[in-house]
Amino acid sequence: MQMGAEIGKRLADVRARMAAAAKGCGRRPEDIHLVAVGKTHPVEAIAAAIAAGAAIIGESYVQEARTKYDALAQQPVQWHFIGRLQTNKAKYAVRMFDLIHTVDSLKLGAELDRQAQKAGKFQQVLIQVNVGIEAQKAGVTPEAAPDLARELSSLSHLKVKGLMAIPPYFDDPERARPHFAALRALRNRIAARAIPQIGMGILSMGMTGDFEAAIEEGATLVRIGSAIFGERT
Ligand SMILES: *Cc1c(COP(=O)(O)O)cnc(C)c1O
Repeated sequence: MQMGAEIGKRLADVRARMAAAAKGCGRRPEDIHLVAVGKTHPVEAIAAAIAAGAAIIGESYVQEARTKYDALAQQPVQWHFIGRLQTNKAKYAVRMFDLIHTVDSLKLGAELDRQAQKAGKFQQVLIQVNVGIEAQKAGVTPEAAPDLARELSSLSHLKVKGLMAIPPYFDDPERARPHFAALRALRNRIAARAIPQIGMGILSMGMTGDFEAAIEEGATLVRIGSAIFGERT
């Protein structure tokens, strides 16, 4: 099969599985959005996904994203940043991305706010939470997340919209489920504080191996790469 047709078919399969998972737990499929994660895949693959209806592209590396963003600038899609962001790349990230999923410190938030102000933009972000408390993973600890939300709320050009997590990897998605549930509970706790300027509507969780469980636990954004584009090499 031609690459474009293959990607179109895989995308349709993912959408069907997302809708089935939503309906199976009484949620509306239109409340769950797909981030097609294109990292390491060529611009032609991203273009094929867009042609097949992908509305949000996720990228993990600023430099790689710039090439694709420039090549696909005319396309009517949103760009989301889902990787580790160094403060010295904040300027480029603000230029490209509609939503940055990975803010985990006041330092990074403040730099994004500064760059957004310069660019005359309100930068939408999520707070990344290290739900599994894994040493090698980015993200604020669950305990520190409410305080970080409060600190970020004072930044005029940063708009916190919710939480994101990458739980520990398991072969069995059922083992990720408690982490998804924990992120949802944390979201509810922060929302209950009604911090001015802080939105908690978005829960970004679920990848190729576990997105159905994530949807059942309340995900509003799922980030899916391999199931659409194939294995990364
Ligand atoms: C690569 C990546 C994904 C997609 O992973 P797949 O297992 O290929 O679906 C999702 N989220 C983040 C943060 C990633 O880095």
